[in-house]
Amino acid sequence: MADNEIFAAPANMTPAFFDENNAKRDLPEGACVTRFAPSPTGYMHVGNLRTALYTYLTARHSDGVFILRIEDTDQGRKVEGATDVIFKTLTETGLTWDEGPDKPGKVGPYVQSERMGIFKAWAEKLVAEGKAYYCFCTEERLEKMREDQIASGMAVGTYDRHCRNLSKEEIEENLKNGVPYVIRQKMPLEGKTGFDDLIYGHIEVDNRELEDQVLLKSDGMPTYNFANVIDDHLMGITHVLRGNEYLSSTPKYNLLYEAFGWTPPTYIHCPPVMKDAHQKLSKRNGDASYQDLVAKGYLSEAVLNYLLLLGWSPEGEKEIFSLQEMIEQWDPARISRSPAIFDPLKLRHINFEYIKALSPEAFLAKAKPVIGEATLAKIRDLPLLCKNLQPRTEVLGEIPEQITFIDALPEYDTELFCNKKMKTDPATAKEALAILRPILETVEPWTPDAIFAACAEKAAQLEKKNGWLLYPLGIALAGTRSTPGGGTDLAVILGREETLARIDKALEMLA
Ligand code: GLU
Repeated sequence: MADNEIFAAPANMTPAFFDENNAKRDLPEGACVTRFAPSPTGYMHVGNLRTALYTYLTARHSDGVFILRIEDTDQGRKVEGATDVIFKTLTETGLTWDEGPDKPGKVGPYVQSERMGIFKAWAEKLVAEGKAYYCFCTEERLEKMREDQIASGMAVGTYDRHCRNLSKEEIEENLKNGVPYVIRQKMPLEGKTGFDDLIYGHIEVDNRELEDQVLLKSDGMPTYNFANVIDDHLMGITHVLRGNEYLSSTPKYNLLYEAFGWTPPTYIHCPPVMKDAHQKLSKRNGDASYQDLVAKGYLSEAVLNYLLLLGWSPEGEKEIFSLQEMIEQWDPARISRSPAIFDPLKLRHINFEYIKALSPEAFLAKAKPVIGEATLAKIRDLPLLCKNLQPRTEVLGEIPEQITFIDALPEYDTELFCNKKMKTDPATAKEALAILRPILETVEPWTPDAIFAACAEKAAQLEKKNGWLLYPLGIALAGTRSTPGGGTDLAVILGREETLARIDKALEMLA
């Protein structure tokens, strides 16, 4: 049978599922068809998101096609809601797919559990061609085999190819009697299988080391490795990007391509994302998930930009890239071969750059939900507060701790009024605040400029520096030296009434 011929599809399947011609696309020369193939087993690990990004960029840079395929065949590991997290994360980060569960194309369905009928037919095709065989070995026999292997010091678990050469009659008899079977691939008994990975170079294994791998399980379900290859081929994937944990399985994948007479894709295996020199980032570590980072106040653009640089280096020194710039600059050959260490400080730095670059309105829109309702109710001028916060905020989630003084004036020590440069101390502060109080009671309008002008005029009259008056104001209003903004801005943020009350409190303490 020719490879591109549609062959016997199970009754409930549309023959289009099996038609390899569906995967032929009219694309410009050099266009890459890639897929991101997550398993819905939990939240979106930053390592997964990085793979998605690199996969997306490889397609977009080449004017190719980016496919989202959900690999949910391992129903035992499936986590409720995980597919939604994948959709949401990719959508939020702008990694839009051309075809996927919600965007049907010619090579769908795009959820692996909906493709189940496909695999049996392809496995049977290999059996018919003598490249795979029915294996009727029972669990008991396999267990005995393992025990014997242990006893004789052989490689444990490797299938001994017992059913590889059953006679035609034996096979027919077993099938007729309904003996359960798996389908195994006949691996070559000699020679080597090699492939060229774009990142890791040439990799080669001795075929003798490869087990006759199971393609189809006794319940008719494909093994993960088999489904992955069939789907990649039927979807016309030209470039496979994934974590390097799949590197050692790739020769087996290639032997399948070979058995079918298909051209294997280009492989681009990415090194893992590490927590430090020894440990991989783990899902248990909250920091490793995209959702957690966003909840902590990292901007999704910043996370994406950080992940771009986590294991990939652009030409030149530029660090901040819009998605469009990433697409233009992308070259998968520049993915690094060494493991990437997740660097929270670098992420902060990049996030800070993105926060600084927001428009004041955009910053306010992002900061507002982070500030509690109770605090918001006390803020008289939110845009002014945000103007002060924006250049001081590296991570949005850290805003509340910068403004706790708005909620309630903290207990503070009058020693805070000491400032050498401004020539202030508790005694001068008492004097300054007494002078300021009537000015602040009457100054109009209640704006930073008007308050500053009135204070500066008074300082000039007194032949003092502005800071002699304004430094104590800041301390009286916030009860701390680290404030987002100087005394005049704080006054407007707190409102006139609260300002006067806090000055009175300070005067009481200083009395
Ligand atoms: N479903 C696999 C995973 O989530 C992807 C494997 C692949 O990309 O080939 O790890």
